[in-house]
This record gives sequence, structure tokens and C-alpha cells, in this order.
Amino acid sequence: MTRHFNFCAGPAAMPAPVLERARQEMLDYQGRGLSVMEMSHRSRDYMAIAEQAEHDLRDLLSIPNNYRVLFTQGGATQQFAALPYNLLGQGGTANFVHTGIWGSKAVKEARHLFGEAGVAASSEPNGHTAVPRPEEIRLSPDAAYLHYTANETIGGLEFDYLLGNTRGGMARPDGVEVPVVCDMSSSILSGPLDVSRFGILYAGAQKNIGPAGLVVVIVRDDLLELARADMPSLFSYRALAEAASMINTPATYSWYLAGLVFQWLRQDVGGLDAMQAINARKASKLYAAIDASDFYSNPIAGINRSRMNVPFMLADARLDEAFLAESEQAGLLNLKGHRSVGGMRASLYNAVPEAAVDALVDFMADFERRNG
Ligand code: PMP
Repeated sequence: MTRHFNFCAGPAAMPAPVLERARQEMLDYQGRGLSVMEMSHRSRDYMAIAEQAEHDLRDLLSIPNNYRVLFTQGGATQQFAALPYNLLGQGGTANFVHTGIWGSKAVKEARHLFGEAGVAASSEPNGHTAVPRPEEIRLSPDAAYLHYTANETIGGLEFDYLLGNTRGGMARPDGVEVPVVCDMSSSILSGPLDVSRFGILYAGAQKNIGPAGLVVVIVRDDLLELARADMPSLFSYRALAEAASMINTPATYSWYLAGLVFQWLRQDVGGLDAMQAINARKASKLYAAIDASDFYSNPIAGINRSRMNVPFMLADARLDEAFLAESEQAGLLNLKGHRSVGGMRASLYNAVPEAAVDALVDFMADFERRNG
């Protein structure tokens, strides 16, 4: 058996020790004679698995007690709809900082459902190569909340600062503070985080948390009161919180695997400070290789270069196909860039080891020698 290096943007690489543990427990979970997949979500064993996962996530991110953790479904995309339903109960509009494709999908969904959405700042004028600076962000007078995307997975553009103040809010022109909401799908758990700087943060699981099918939402409890009455009940953060995320059958196996990933981060990696240091080394090695050559390029401003998703172009796009075929041959999988951008993209999520980046950098140098 050979496991190749997987640079997929999502569903992404899983930590090998997590897959090993899942394999050991696959047919017979801790002597119970059945798989976790086959358990009732209401059983004592499964409840213990679910609670342990939340406990470990709270520990990793030092989540304050006044925040609820929800394990829900529908992908991060469903949250684009759930958020306005949950936060516009007292009127007003959703505001957005637009820094790329995922942010624009969130705007589009809010407009589709509620007609209006404000763009508080956008990096469109610079081609999404640098995020707006804090002083450029202007909420509309009727803003009910501000949404942004911490890391744009396709463009490889990451915020170098947190938007929310120490109360998790941002002030409108009239001085009223509204909650800051953050899509952290592709950067959650890549390093330590001050959760109190957000009203809500959420992430689809299939990058740094676990398998697809699970979404984690972390919501400050006072915001549970702001929901519209007319929303689908499965979207309701309050209903989810009251039911411990078990209004209906949750994505039990994905939740269990997420729990194993949290244990891996705590025990094997040594926590999020250690994870952050490893991620910084991985990203800087790859950007250094790109910058050292005229053969490869990345257009993003230095401070906003994503640590998780590194898009890069070959100087001659006619070589793209050969690059992809040969890299795959060398055991470097899923380097094709998103179809809207072209070129290459290497995603360096937590489970991608430093050795993968070393192998990629070596391959890139060799490919350049042969084709440059
Ligand atoms: N937001 C971001 C930042 C993403 O990267 C993605 C998925 N790549 C999404 C939202 C959508 O996630 P999902 O496919 O889980 O709906």
C-alpha cells in the first residue's frame, strides 16, 4: 500500500493516524461488536463520542463558555442561506466583505433570499490580490451583520487580520455594533484563534476538520435570539443548540472522524500553536520556491498569501498538462488549479505533511530544469 501526497482543496487529505485508528475501530468499536456507522445517534456510546469531539474542539480553540458549538450538515453553502435566516429577524441587511468566489456566493444567496445585501468592501478592483484594509470597510446604515471569508480557497487570498473587535462586532456609521460572521471553511484549526472576535464562525469539514458532510458552526449565545420566524427548522441555530445538534440524525460517522482529527491535533501534533508553526514552514517553503523562479508565479500580495491554498501559474500554460501528468506520476496528487483560475493549486491543509511540500518543491525544480 502506498499513500501519495494529496494536495486536494477539498475533500482533502486526512491525517494517516486518524485513518489507521478508524480502520482499527471500523468493524468493532471498542469491543461493542459494531461500527460507529451502525450506532444509534442517541446511544450512550455515540453520545460520548459526540460530546468528546465537542470537548476537544473547545479545548483546541479555547472556545468561551458563551459560545455554542453546532455540528450540522448541508455544507458551508447551506450556511450562506442559514445565516441571513438566523440573523435578520429584526430586519436590516446582511453586509459582506467580498474577496473572491466563496464570498460572492454568500452575497448571492443573501440577495436571492432577502433581496438586498450590502458590500462593505471589496477586493475586486485589485483582482482579489489583496484584502481591503480595516479602514476601507464601511457598513451600511441598516447592516444587521458583517460576513467575510477568512481564506478564499480558490484565489488563495487570506486575511492577515481579524475583522471583529474584542466583542466580536463591528460598528455601523451610527455607532451600533453588529456581529461579525466568518466563513473559516479552509483555514479553521490551522492555528490558534481568538473566538471572541466573532459573533459566528463556521466551516465545512472537508478541509481541516474531517470528511465532507459535516459543518461546524460556533455561535455566541445571545445571537440565537435574532432569528426570523419563517425559517426552515433545520436551519435554526437555536433549535440545533437546544437539541445538541440532534434535531434529526446527524452525520454520525463524519462527526466521529472529526473527533479523531481533534484528538490527533491535541495529542500527536501538540495543539494549534505547534500546528501553526508547521503550516508556516510549509507555506513559506512553497512560496519561496515560486518566488525564486521566473518559471512559476503567484499574484497575491505577500501579507495576504494563503497558508492553506497556494495557486501558482506556469509561465507557459502549454506546459500545464505535462506538469499535471508528471506530478501525478511522481505521487503528487490533485495539483490542478480551480477551473475558474487555471494553472495549479497546492492545498497545504493540516494533514499535508511537510515532506509533501519538500517533494513538491523538488519536483517543481526538476520540471523547470527539464522544461524551462
Ligand atoms: N466557503 C469556502 C471558503 C470554501 O472553500 C468552500 C468549499 N470549497 C465553501 C464555502 C463551500 O463549501 P461546501 O462545498 O461544503 O458547501
